[in-house]
Amino acid sequence: MKKITLLGATGSIGIQTLEVIRQYPQLFSVHAFAFGKNVKKAIPLIREFQPKILVVQDMETKHELQQHYAVRTEILVGAAGMVEVSIDPETDVLVNAVMGSVGLDATIQAIEKKKQIAIANKETLVTAGHLVMALAQQHQVQLLPVDSEHSAIFQCLQGEKQQQVERIILTASGGSFRDTPREALENVTVEDALKHPNWNMGAKITIDSASMMNKGLEVIEAHWLFNIPYDKIDVILHKESIIHSMVEFQDRSIIAQLGNADMRIPIQYALTYPNRMPLQESDPVNFIELGKMHFQEMSFERFPCLEMAYQAGKEGGTMPAVLNAANEQAVALFLQKKISFLAIEKVILEMLNTHQSIQHPDLETIQAVDQETRLKAIQFVTR
Ligand code: NDP
Ligand code: MG
Repeated sequence: MKKITLLGATGSIGIQTLEVIRQYPQLFSVHAFAFGKNVKKAIPLIREFQPKILVVQDMETKHELQQHYAVRTEILVGAAGMVEVSIDPETDVLVNAVMGSVGLDATIQAIEKKKQIAIANKETLVTAGHLVMALAQQHQVQLLPVDSEHSAIFQCLQGEKQQQVERIILTASGGSFRDTPREALENVTVEDALKHPNWNMGAKITIDSASMMNKGLEVIEAHWLFNIPYDKIDVILHKESIIHSMVEFQDRSIIAQLGNADMRIPIQYALTYPNRMPLQESDPVNFIELGKMHFQEMSFERFPCLEMAYQAGKEGGTMPAVLNAANEQAVALFLQKKISFLAIEKVILEMLNTHQSIQHPDLETIQAVDQETRLKAIQFVTR
């Protein structure tokens, strides 16, 4: 029986992680879970899974749980609370599915305690990939990817030799605006952007998919997880989201991982690895119904966020942290309807252009740059 600590329990990945756990009560139990403020979503989950410890984002939410819902479970607060449950001796597996760079400390400290880690929180790897991977190697901890593309690559690499990999081909569905010409993006709304054609995900990642920043973050994530140079990571558009990514080897053989667009597949694989288990209530891919799969070249002109991500990744140092923080702040402002969709990329470009990169940053430097960039981004849009 594995005791799981789940960060981001009320989110899209969090809920689907709980669906997997619910199917295998003999294998998994929930030791602790953390969420932000969504008490309404959390209450039935707390009642069902009965975690020993809860973590919430602020004191207000803690009081609401205690006073309005008579929750008697121990409740911790904030990023420090997430770290505490992640390194708790009773935690066997950490599933980090919180949104944003707020998940960084928990990942780092859990690695130091040699916890098994299933990682959905890509912002962690983008901002501090060099630190996270060096620590993982030092403590012999394997980071099990939850992101569908990275789970696909990880599956394609089983039994293969790293040095024989020729390139990684990440697939992209294209997001909500894949069929919208660039000129028409000027006036798109939050509601338009939130309509993803293939995946039902949290708001921030759905916007990232529409801007293609999600794929940009995934390029950096792949670079760190699989120790592969940027010029060996390609992105192609594949609108059906059936091939989740591919690995090409030196002999030109390509291995791909396929499946329906169902995040429970990579989540479950990360939890049961190296085993595979039946997934209830899921249909097999119907190739006859599918008929065709399409592939298209990815254009940097159409999706400048992808180009910015490649450049920030290649430059390294604090650039990826700036890219991520600027993006998190800009997307939050877009979701609050304070800036337009196209302003997201303008904010990111400005933050990258005005940042003096610091090479080999430590954790404190990264966190300072993250905070500084968020403030600068707000100033930039309100001037
Ligand atoms: P959601 O927005 O659906 O969920 C985010 C979760 O994090 C919620 O439980 C939220 O709590 C919690 N949270 C947010 N901020 C804080 C905070 N400051 N302190 C504590 N908890 C917080 O996101 P997703 O599930 O879509 O994504 C989570 C991560 O997984 C992201 O890094 C994303 O890139 C990655 N990912 C997601 C995929 C998907 O299919 N959704 C696919 C691949 C990767 P609350 O809502 O209660 O405030
Ligand atoms: Mg993905």
